[in-house]
Amino acid sequence: MTTTLFISDLHLCASRPRINQLFFDFFESAARKADQLYILGDFFEYWAGDDDIDDPFNRSIVRALAALTSSGVAVYLMHGNRDFLIGKAFCQASGAKLLPDPSVIELNGTRTLLMHGDTLCTDDVEYQNFRKEVRDPRWQREFLSQPLAQRKAIIEDLRRRSETEKQTKSRDIMDVTPASVEAVLREHGYPSLIHGHTHRPALHHHQVDGKNCERWVLTDWYEHGGYLRGDANGRTAIRIPAAND
Ligand code: MN
Repeated sequence: MTTTLFISDLHLCASRPRINQLFFDFFESAARKADQLYILGDFFEYWAGDDDIDDPFNRSIVRALAALTSSGVAVYLMHGNRDFLIGKAFCQASGAKLLPDPSVIELNGTRTLLMHGDTLCTDDVEYQNFRKEVRDPRWQREFLSQPLAQRKAIIEDLRRRSETEKQTKSRDIMDVTPASVEAVLREHGYPSLIHGHTHRPALHHHQVDGKNCERWVLTDWYEHGGYLRGDANGRTAIRIPAAND
């Protein structure tokens, strides 16, 4: 039996020192004791391209990852909707391995499907169209060919617009669509599912074609931190309180 930790939606950025401290503490304590750590997307608030590794804040995060991986913890990283431009150079510098979305792993004997979660929010047609566009390798080549400062400005503009849109979109649209959850569970042979993205941490039980499937939704790291631990005792969601909690 191994100890495997799952995190997502840390949205790391230099302007949130309180959460960053939780992250660094977590990396030096619980994460060190694990065999594997899975980061299921939106690790960074945004990622403009691997040439941004030289930014001092990004450098400090890469160093923390590198320290963890060189201590013997296997780190797997899945793209989120914010940091899907993380590439080979980042992985080389950090020792993390890029994981496709979706991926199936064997977690102490249980087939487990890992996703970021954004592809399950199929009621948000506008977002799914945007996703299709920006995940196109041609779009990415074109985007990455622009100077870093220009890319950052474009991302800032997109983030501002998405903040405004979020205020007008209903909460339901930004959650997973039950039919999409059922479809992926069926497609992958009724595994257990772990994802993030929606910022609505919970354990859901789905009955699909008469089979019971667990769906763990990971917490974001806004007000506090947290992770899901899978070990000999099963699966447990653990909250990391912030200093003033
Ligand atoms: Mn997300």
